[in-house]
Amino acid sequence: MKKHNSEVLKLEESIFSTITQRAMKEGAINLAQGFPDFDGPAWVVELAKKVLGENKNQYAPSMGVMALRQQISELYQKTYKLHYKPETEILITHGATEGIYSTIRALINPGDEVIVFEPLYDSYAASVQMARGVLKPVTLHAPDFSFDRAEFKAQLSDKTKLLIINNPHNPTGRVFSKEEIQWLGQLAIEFDFYILSDEVYEFLTFKEAHQPTALESSIKDRVITISSIGKTLSFTGWKLGWVCATPELIKSIHNVHQFVNFCANHPLQVTLAEALPQMDHYLKEFRFDYEKRRNLLMRGLVELDFKVIEPSGTYFLLAQVPQGLTSLEYCYQLISEKKVATIPLSPFYLKSKEGDQLVRFCFAKKAETLNLALKNLGRNT
Ligand code: PMP
Ligand code: GLN
Repeated sequence: MKKHNSEVLKLEESIFSTITQRAMKEGAINLAQGFPDFDGPAWVVELAKKVLGENKNQYAPSMGVMALRQQISELYQKTYKLHYKPETEILITHGATEGIYSTIRALINPGDEVIVFEPLYDSYAASVQMARGVLKPVTLHAPDFSFDRAEFKAQLSDKTKLLIINNPHNPTGRVFSKEEIQWLGQLAIEFDFYILSDEVYEFLTFKEAHQPTALESSIKDRVITISSIGKTLSFTGWKLGWVCATPELIKSIHNVHQFVNFCANHPLQVTLAEALPQMDHYLKEFRFDYEKRRNLLMRGLVELDFKVIEPSGTYFLLAQVPQGLTSLEYCYQLISEKKVATIPLSPFYLKSKEGDQLVRFCFAKKAETLNLALKNLGRNT
């Protein structure tokens, strides 16, 4: 039989699936894949049950339920003083992942160049590859994960179409500074490229409040802001996300979205529209709660002599791999000998070898899970 699409054949199983399956097989505690081991707020679950009885079980409008787009617009206005028109500038997607895919599909022609910071979230590279774009990686260098501006400039060309940034950044936990965003924005204007800003961890910053990239007014018309409810409500399985951009960009992104999904889940959109106006108290507690989880894991790992890098955002933290092992070898060793699963960083890099020195722990877990994992890690095998 004839071969399948050659770009698709190059894709490999996601490292999150590989490690989660191994952790399950070996009975290891999963601090690898980024998902909470506790449920999201019970009052939102109750809202969802109510909405399921309200005859909202057929297709939603392809752009998304208007009440939800209005609430997202209000959330951005209230939180950041950032204005997006619900009618034309907000699109509801099947999670941030679909928003990322649809945006890349909408913008990238074969041969267009896309600058990405590595370590990079896996769906960016896969989506660019499927669009036959060319990835141009710029390394965020450990331990502070800053980037070299000359290295960045060397990746620019007249084919540069898009820069993808993830802020706060998975897997490093880094938060980009306002000055860095301004510097990147200047280049976006000079070299005429778009910026896809993946902000799914926007409510998980531990030092200062999150600053959306689109707040830089000189570049707002070339920024595509993407977020989702998975992390913020601890419902990663709901897969509800959104894309905010100019009406022209949203029109093209929607052209892709309507033939990938047509629309996102209808009753959960209605639920979220009702939940968002009631989130002020929840969001304060949420950040505080995660800071406690981060501190618990970080202190415990330090006591066990792990060399950890303190994250400023996200629900991940990185630790150094002992000399003589690759990150994958170490990760497999921790699963089989300590019954704790982490994510090796090497698959997050296209260019640099720095990933071989690092593994990622997820602290979106109950205190008892984190304590148990620490106990396992401290055990002599
Ligand atoms: N971007 C980043 C950086 C992520 O860590 C994740 C993880 N889940 C996503 C996007 C995907 O979000 P969603 O589950 O809403 O598709
Ligand atoms: N975002 C999650 C992580 O970084 C994983 C999502 C997935 O499994 N695709 O762990």
